[in-house]
Amino acid sequence: MNKPRVELLIRELLSELGEDPDREGLRRTPARMAASLDFLTSGYRTDREALINNAYFTQDSDSMVVLRDIEFYSMCEHHMLPFFGHVHIGYLPQGKVFGISKLARLVEMYSRRLQLQERMTEQIANVIMESIDALGVGVMVEGQHLCMMMRGVQKHGSIMVTSCMLGTFRSDSRTRSEFLNLVSRPRPEMH
Ligand code: ZN
Repeated sequence: MNKPRVELLIRELLSELGEDPDREGLRRTPARMAASLDFLTSGYRTDREALINNAYFTQDSDSMVVLRDIEFYSMCEHHMLPFFGHVHIGYLPQGKVFGISKLARLVEMYSRRLQLQERMTEQIANVIMESIDALGVGVMVEGQHLCMMMRGVQKHGSIMVTSCMLGTFRSDSRTRSEFLNLVSRPRPEMH
């Protein structure tokens, strides 16, 4: 990302909105916003192959792995406003499993960019399925969209749920219900 150019564009945007980009409170806003955008879109610049190649290891296990409540923050591509919530991932391995922190990194790679929740859900499921040759993958995403909450219909508190089921998660209803059961339990209390 060309930060000086982005800063200039933000400065122009501030003027167009009717602001004075030179007033004290806004003077450093273009630089701060450019840095913030750089972080929020860093998924575009993540080395996908390196991330995936370091993400899994060999383990002789064929029981379902579930990681739920992975926090994510993304921006909708229609309004560039945040949407955020939780991702739940389940998969059935056949010889290779993901490191837990690497699953969270995959979520970051696909959430830190302009997104649609539906597409993000599919991308996460597909990359897991392909990279460890899993028997099946299930991904469920629960998101709240500021573009719905702040403008127009102002639907507060509504949560959008998307899911993608691949392999045995799609073909075997028992596998699917086991996954859905595990991720829809109330969150355990943390003490
Ligand atoms: Zn939107």
